[in-house]
Amino acid sequence: MIRPESGLRELIGVGAKVAEKLANLGLVTVRDLLHYYPRRYEDFSQPREINQLKASEHHIIKARIIEVHNEFSAKRHMRLTRALASDDSGQIGLLWFNQPFLIRLLKPGTIWLFAGRIETDYKSNLTMVAPVIERHEQILPVYSETAGLTSKVIRKLLYQLRPMMIEMEDWLPEKIRSTQRLSPISQALIKIHFPETLEQISLAKRRLAFDELFLLLLKVRIAKQSLNQAKAPLCPSDIEKLKQFISSLPFTLTDSQRLASWEIIKDLGRTVPMNRLLEGDVGSGKTVVGAIAAYNATAAGYQAVWLTPTEILAHQHYQTCEKLLAPAKVKVGLLTSATTKKITPELENYNLIIGTQAVIQDKVQFSRLGLVIVDEQHRFGVNQRNRLLNGGAKSPIPHLLSMTATPIPRSLALTIYGDLDISRLQTVPAGRQPVITRFVDPQHRQQAYDFIRRQIKAGRQAFVVCPLVEESTDQVLGQLQLELAERKAATAEYQKLSNMIFPDLRVGLIHGKLKPAEKQTVMTMFNGGRIDILVATAVIEVGVDIPNATVMMIESADRFGLAQLHQFRGRVGRAAHQSYCFVFTDSTDLATYERLRVFSDTSSGFDLAELDLELRGPGQLAGLKQSGLSNLKLASLADIALIRQAKNAVQAVLKDGLNRYPVLAAEVGDEQQRAHLG
Ligand code: ADP
Ligand code: MG
Repeated sequence: MIRPESGLRELIGVGAKVAEKLANLGLVTVRDLLHYYPRRYEDFSQPREINQLKASEHHIIKARIIEVHNEFSAKRHMRLTRALASDDSGQIGLLWFNQPFLIRLLKPGTIWLFAGRIETDYKSNLTMVAPVIERHEQILPVYSETAGLTSKVIRKLLYQLRPMMIEMEDWLPEKIRSTQRLSPISQALIKIHFPETLEQISLAKRRLAFDELFLLLLKVRIAKQSLNQAKAPLCPSDIEKLKQFISSLPFTLTDSQRLASWEIIKDLGRTVPMNRLLEGDVGSGKTVVGAIAAYNATAAGYQAVWLTPTEILAHQHYQTCEKLLAPAKVKVGLLTSATTKKITPELENYNLIIGTQAVIQDKVQFSRLGLVIVDEQHRFGVNQRNRLLNGGAKSPIPHLLSMTATPIPRSLALTIYGDLDISRLQTVPAGRQPVITRFVDPQHRQQAYDFIRRQIKAGRQAFVVCPLVEESTDQVLGQLQLELAERKAATAEYQKLSNMIFPDLRVGLIHGKLKPAEKQTVMTMFNGGRIDILVATAVIEVGVDIPNATVMMIESADRFGLAQLHQFRGRVGRAAHQSYCFVFTDSTDLATYERLRVFSDTSSGFDLAELDLELRGPGQLAGLKQSGLSNLKLASLADIALIRQAKNAVQAVLKDGLNRYPVLAAEVGDEQQRAHLG
């Protein structure tokens, strides 16, 4: 019997080849296919009269074939099939390319439905170009297709699942379904894939969108509840020693840093696992707060792990923490792919491990992990993070501190995580001046170079960031090719700057394809002032801290999202010197201009995150991946009313107790298990 967990190979017509194509669409199980919703619908149920058609529009007609023939177009070098068809209102030409076999189907006198775009020829006759041919007056779902796997094939597979859909048990309690006026799940699934009317589609969508939000919110609440019941290592702090440590720091903490540290210390002193997000704009000084947290956990006898999204950042934090924590007898280790072999066997000897994703491997096991710090948390997925948190199943759950400069906008965060603990660094260290951002016209490029030269003569340093990969090639290129292309672009920029523009200055180059040791050498030289201008790819996007750098020049800025641009800008303005960010683009697209204008005019990362949401919608938001929000297929985060309904429903269910609803409990359990495997 076919069940939701069954592999698609069990369906008729799915062999190895088709299975592979389905897998390319992310479809492996029957459940995946059930929830692979149509991208749009073709409504063959209401054909239009031929005399009502308008040129350059997409239309559907029902017409009788009058005449059909094949011809060869020498000009286009292809075979054309031309037909003439009519209904009661008029006649129209039909045209197909390289499908000569169609004449066997479209016999004169037969009646068909055709859907396609209407064009006019030089005599202003209407022609429908490459229309889709259909036999029945129905609404046909159109799915996102992949080469060799058409909507028709997908529909056929789904058809086999109809008996299962009809029998499907609803996991949403009847009580909620009736108060929220939602269709039963079996109805919703059948109608989204096999609708008879447009109204059925919208009802089905509403139910399925509700499900997405409801399940997401329910999982968040359950996770929070189980976290509240779990035990975390108790890390009480010795206030005297802590004060001593804080006074040993090279600077006085800002009030914000002091407050955030205090909130964290209180959390660490409880046995409920901390789940705190430290928000602070670029340069606001999150690192030292992390160091204080790490100090506290290690002083209590536990180990701490500090995760960074890049190797460069891991090295930098390693150096910073060595400086800040070594005097307090904290032994700091660096764990990257390059050092895994060496560090893993001696893990026990370290109090604080700073590392990249390399930390998240099965062979890296901590025995007394008390605190996990995730820096730039928007770059990590939930699953990666959770693997570390659930490390040893028997051991207590470590405290979690995540840090970010570009959080999910508050409006969304509150909706979804109404109960996440947040500390915010409201202020930046004293003496900082906001970075001056200029959206520079290409003709003023030379002036920007002159400006950089003057800054360097005054003792400062500069970054030049370039992506420069053609937008259109992105989709085609894999990650590796993308990196290679970026290297090529950065290398070209480096040669131009070092040979032609600044032959008298020290220009350096860093990109993702350099070996870790090479990257480190370049960063050390730049940090030590032995490089004046650093040409870089996005590898320096987050966290890099070179207080003496005052100019950030961003080429092809249209290629970056607002949050990313803001991160780049955050690489300067990290000390008292006035700093500058120059933004360049060759794009002439209005929306791009608008976005870059918004960027130049907005200096706060939090405001930018909100604006990014407005401009590009939630799909593009940094940090969304880790929130589970990006799994929403039908639900819109703008649909506040539906979100509220889902929230009420979650509350109602939890009030009754989830165990009163076994089908739902199973669904949530399954979901969590699947998320875990994913
Ligand atoms: P971010 O919040 O972007 O991670 P960092 O923690 O890297 O910021 O801090 C940015 C810079 O500010 C660093 O050079 C750091 O040494 C410095 N800094 C942090 N806190 C203070 C402070 N209270 N007073 C002066 N400088 C500080
Ligand atoms: Mg940082």
